[in-house]
Amino acid sequence: AVAIRTVGLGKSYGHGETRIDALADVSVEFGRGRFTAIMGPSGSGKSTLLHCLAGLDKPTTGQVMLGELDLTKLDERSLTHLRRDRIGFVFQAFNLVPTLTALENITLPLDLANRKPDKAWLDTVLTTIGLKDRLGHKPSELSGGQQQRVACARALVSRPHVVFADEPTGNLDSRASADVLGFLHRSVREFGQTVVMVTHDPTAAAYADRVLFLADGRLRDELLDPTAESV
Ligand code: ADP
Ligand code: ADP
Repeated sequence: AVAIRTVGLGKSYGHGETRIDALADVSVEFGRGRFTAIMGPSGSGKSTLLHCLAGLDKPTTGQVMLGELDLTKLDERSLTHLRRDRIGFVFQAFNLVPTLTALENITLPLDLANRKPDKAWLDTVLTTIGLKDRLGHKPSELSGGQQQRVACARALVSRPHVVFADEPTGNLDSRASADVLGFLHRSVREFGQTVVMVTHDPTAAAYADRVLFLADGRLRDELLDPTAESV
């Protein structure tokens, strides 16, 4: 099954002589329960694609279909709800709330939506990130790798349709990167989560079961891991 797909997606900045086509005619499907990495040189449109997929950015042309829902047709209010309830996002800079504990950061999306945590799922997520004795700590008391695992848990806590990660290991050393990527990988393999990650790091991309390559805003190439189960 397809979790999210684009049809003829394009995004341009500026007009006339100064127009930049950040994305041009990108049609791609992201299967449910798959871990996709998006790679490409700086300026190739990776962030623009991720932001359009996540409803953070409006494309100029084309569609983004989350199930039967076309994100490009939604107003800001609906997009806000959708991002809160059905999409998880992990940023390079962690973006945790400094005044809240790790646990409060993780459950924040549920609190904002006035939803009760599913106890079993929350326990599973907390066990998997492996920070049980640090959940009462503020972000400033945690290492970078621990903060990013908290951010990943926050992205997963409402069991979103898709988790998007934009250079999640860009600020981490290799040991902390492995912890974060291991967590994302387990969320895909063990819980069937769908993950789409932008990275320029081949070591990070190796955790994915599919790698897409962008160049000049266009899809250039694709690598599939032949050992990954197709869903
Ligand atoms: P990547 O993530 O692969 O580095 P981006 O998606 O950030 O690439 O950018 C793709 C292209 O769009 C680049 O040429 C970039 O300069 C341009 N671009 C991105 N955002 C803007 C913006 N807000 N205004 C103008 N140009 C932009
Ligand atoms: P669909 O998109 O097909 O309606 P969902 O994404 O809603 O499916 O749910 C997928 C699976 O995750 C289902 O087995 C559902 O029971 C489970 N699930 C959904 N939300 C939660 C949650 N908050 N806690 C635990 N399990 C959940």
